[in-house]
Amino acid sequence: MLQVGVNGYGTIGKRVADAITAQPDMELAGVAKTRPNFEAEQAVKNGYPLFAAVPERVPRFEEAGIDLAGEVEALVDRSDVVVDATPSGIGAENKELYDAHGTPALYQGGEDAELVDASFNARSNFSEAVGRDHVRVVSCNTTGLSRLVAPIEETFGIEKVRATLVRRGGDPSQSSRGPINDVLPDPISLPSHHGPDVKTIFPDLAIDTLGLKVPATLTHTHSVNVSLAGEASAAEVRETLEDESRLFVISEGSGIEGSGALKEFALDAGRPRGDLWENCIWGESIAVAGSDLYLFQAIGQESDVVPENVDAVRAVAGTDDAETSIERTNDALGMGF
Ligand code: NAD
Repeated sequence: MLQVGVNGYGTIGKRVADAITAQPDMELAGVAKTRPNFEAEQAVKNGYPLFAAVPERVPRFEEAGIDLAGEVEALVDRSDVVVDATPSGIGAENKELYDAHGTPALYQGGEDAELVDASFNARSNFSEAVGRDHVRVVSCNTTGLSRLVAPIEETFGIEKVRATLVRRGGDPSQSSRGPINDVLPDPISLPSHHGPDVKTIFPDLAIDTLGLKVPATLTHTHSVNVSLAGEASAAEVRETLEDESRLFVISEGSGIEGSGALKEFALDAGRPRGDLWENCIWGESIAVAGSDLYLFQAIGQESDVVPENVDAVRAVAGTDDAETSIERTNDALGMGF
């Protein structure tokens, strides 16, 4: 059993902790939190060993009556792999801690690509993370684009990708984020950082991305145009995408017309927190004009990276190949609608 620790128990960390717990070959060594809030209480209720991420704050947990299993160093020490899910930039500060204990670490998309030995997307470049000590699971947007690019590139070839990313202003719990009543080109100057980030997975891909931020919390939405290298019909593209386990092609007539209905659909399907682990591609939007493919996809920003973190654990631990790991993760989580 692989012992996996999660340092940083917020939006991503708590979802990764639950996903690790669901895997038959992994045990959650514990989670580390900075403060004794409702998430800390829930972690203890779930039976997750809770560690103080900041040693000086141990008394705050004691005052709140929340039992600790120790401090973060002990968690790192008992883990075969640590998943760092702290806010952007804190992972870089934690790297020394992981090195000091010889514990391989996964970081999230908020960290710089230069911090790590490899950036990771399970479908696209699993083998590059095998046996590495520092691996970055790329951001929600980059994960969504990589999953889409991989099968299109393999089946039809790609001349160029152009994607406009309509990004949610914040996650539902991020009350300090905006915009509240605005539409922001973000960044105003082109390209956005997402294209270069996709190139950490596909170094030779021609890709330009534009970004906007809108007053929404449910999902990101991508408007994608791919200039194909080979011939393809919309039906052939659709068939290729439908064969992918982490791409969900929304069928016509389902009545899922936007992010709100998608979330409702996921909740009705019994998904924890209404999470969307797959890219959600509107089938009706898949169109080919000449050699240009067009489509819309929604990306569950809080959840698409969760199965990727699980696979990245197996990659750095060297326990499974890509295909086996993806299948195990999908089965354990219950992926696929
Ligand atoms: P979050 O703020 O929801 O959670 C981060 C958690 O880490 C919080 O509980 C915070 O208290 C805790 N923390 C702060 N400092 C810490 C420290 N020194 N040690 C341990 N824990 C500490 O953030 P998030 O949205 O989960 O983002 C985490 C990472 O995942 C970032 O790199 C982010 O860019 C990336 N990411 C976020 C999303 C998203 O949409 N939320 C999607 C993909 C990737």
